[in-house]
Amino acid sequence: LHCNARRVGFYYFVLEWPGSYCDTWSRCCYPKTGKPAADFSIHGLWPDYNNGGWPSYCDQRNRFDPSLITDLEEDLTTYWSSLSCPSSNSHSFWAHEWNKHGTCTESTLDQHAYFQAAIRLRERIDLLGALQSAGIHPDGGRYSLRSIVHALEQAIGHTPAVECNRDAYGNTQLYEVYICVATDGSTLIPCSVFPQSSCSSYVVFPSFGHTGVQSAL
Ligand code: 5GP
Ligand code: 5GP
Repeated sequence: LHCNARRVGFYYFVLEWPGSYCDTWSRCCYPKTGKPAADFSIHGLWPDYNNGGWPSYCDQRNRFDPSLITDLEEDLTTYWSSLSCPSSNSHSFWAHEWNKHGTCTESTLDQHAYFQAAIRLRERIDLLGALQSAGIHPDGGRYSLRSIVHALEQAIGHTPAVECNRDAYGNTQLYEVYICVATDGSTLIPCSVFPQSSCSSYVVFPSFGHTGVQSAL
């Protein structure tokens, strides 16, 4: 009845709080490039369908090639470093994100444009500044999800989705912020679909650099 193939409708730009990646039971490792800043870092830029669901691994022939993004390597190290163990130079994280998600922009963004778009978005959106302006600090305190979302709206201009994970003691904590972006890779738009939230009405905002780091440099 409808013969149009599913098309990507928007991208989720996903930022993560490094303190919440590190203080889980599985812990983390600083990258070989050094301890990242105590600020939100990029998890990924993920093409999605408007009605839920998303494509992945769309072009096996278009593998991640670090030689295409040498001019972006410094900014990527700043904003998109990998905290998984063992310590790395983050190339395996970028390769995973490109191969799984970046190949699904339906040729809108090539490798260089994809990583450039993520860097520009991160430079424009100061989530930590907005939270701190609202009195919400990464101090291990508990904050209402409502107050967090309200503060994040000031930085984004739209309502984001917030995802949580659990620290090693089982406390629910602020982990990821999903921001909706048009398929040009730069225009911030209202989200048409939200992932199911994993947060409770009060969540911990942990510090970064005190707990869970397996091997510091
Ligand atoms: P999790 O189960 O941790 O939420 O997600 C695991 C992985 O699935 C993510 O790292 C990402 O690659 C993919 N994923 C989860 N939710 C979404 C989504 O809403 N859109 C897209 N494109 N990928 C997602
Ligand atoms: P996803 O499949 O959810 O898009 O990406 C998560 C994958 O990237 C996991 O396999 C995870 O081990 C790897 N990874 C490497 N470094 C990081 C990091 O710093 N943060 C996150 N969230 N995942 C990382």
